[in-house]
Amino acid sequence: MAKKAYERPLIKKLETGMPSKFGLRNDLVPVTHIDEVAVSELVEKYGSPLFVLSEETIVNTIEKARRAFTTRYPRVQFAWSYKTNYLDAICRIFHLEGAWAEVVSGFEYEKALRNGVDGKKIIFNGPEKSRPGLLKAIHNDSLIHIDHLDELYELVELASETNLKPRVAIRINMDTGIYPQWDRFGFNLETGQAWDAINKIMHSGKLELTGLHCHIGTFILSPGAYGVAATKLAQFAIDIRNKFNHTIKYLDLGGGFASKNTLKGSYLPGPDINPGFDDYAEAITTSLHNSGFQTNELPLLILETGRALIDEAGYLITTVLGNKRLASGGRSTIIDAGVNLLFTAFWYDHKTVPAQPFSLYREETVLCGPLCMNIDVVRDNISLPLLKKNDRLVIHNVGAYNMTQWMQFITMRPAVVMISADGIVHQIRKKEDIDTILQSEIIPQYLLSKS
Ligand SMILES: *Cc1c(COP(=O)(O)O)cnc(C)c1O
Repeated sequence: MAKKAYERPLIKKLETGMPSKFGLRNDLVPVTHIDEVAVSELVEKYGSPLFVLSEETIVNTIEKARRAFTTRYPRVQFAWSYKTNYLDAICRIFHLEGAWAEVVSGFEYEKALRNGVDGKKIIFNGPEKSRPGLLKAIHNDSLIHIDHLDELYELVELASETNLKPRVAIRINMDTGIYPQWDRFGFNLETGQAWDAINKIMHSGKLELTGLHCHIGTFILSPGAYGVAATKLAQFAIDIRNKFNHTIKYLDLGGGFASKNTLKGSYLPGPDINPGFDDYAEAITTSLHNSGFQTNELPLLILETGRALIDEAGYLITTVLGNKRLASGGRSTIIDAGVNLLFTAFWYDHKTVPAQPFSLYREETVLCGPLCMNIDVVRDNISLPLLKKNDRLVIHNVGAYNMTQWMQFITMRPAVVMISADGIVHQIRKKEDIDTILQSEIIPQYLLSKS
């Protein structure tokens, strides 16, 4: 018989799901499968840690979002925010579901083209637009959302050089009651910068002003802020029509809807309190209907929703490397996925559930990642059953931003798989290995010869 592992005895109060003023909450059941595929099988085949995406959840979520808006407003278009998750397989699902592409760099622009997106359906946002990048966007007749005056002047110059009339919008920042105000992108409404940009565009005669854009922030918990933004954009469009007799074709309300994650410090779980698509849609569309547009001139409503469409579809499977007692007597469990893969752990208390059956007893645990860095903490205080080395955990709601902001730091980035709607597992990104890193490095000749 194998010798049992020894753990130093320690007297510690154990919790079995104590009732709070909201009643007895014991929603912890093991997550042994994702979309009916066994977690153990996934790890056996693709290793740990492992990102898993569910196509079914993506499609259901976008369907919910679409329904919330199209039942309230006649003309709606979603544009997939590439930076939220630009794995090609994921982008293609969104494009198949009818989404345009929303990109914020030349690199993302190129990715959208290679994913087969028609240039006319690419929205080019952000401050990072190079001259060659702008030229390409002009030739492809993409929608260029101007961020600052230097970009505006460059576009006027390129329009003259190419004899083409680029389709442009301006990004507008404004006071919607959300503070700190994001005023570093685009032109401010209240100070007159936005009017200044519009006057320059219209008087140049070189640019085709097609839309107005704003993106007021991210994980905005107040739908009312979108109501304010929509009212202000609509009024601005009407003022432009009155001054220049020019119709604004679309209003783009950007992204920023909250997903179902729980923000750190929140008393109640995100799924219980965060607004849903219906709440945001109600606020935005009510404002548009109540503005001064005639029924036949309602502008197209564009939404660049990112995290709220993909967060719930993403899981991170991780394996327990070991347990230890901290000097405080508290329990620390070390797992093989850290903040290098889970950037969002700095903001969210990600729902984290064991992947195998467990006993009723729980203990407050610090969940640490594998990095030799003190900040590598995935959950600083989570009530978990006692886990053993090689047990697995499934971290939930990780689909947004982690697979774009992850770092190759100390360890390699893991594989990503997607379970398609028909239940088949597809690998959509290979696990990195040392060659992935070394292929980009160059050792000067003199250092080679001396080794
Ligand atoms: C990041 C970004 C989005 C997506 O934001 P989410 O918070 O993920 O919904 C949309 N539009 C612009 C301009 C962005 O920069």
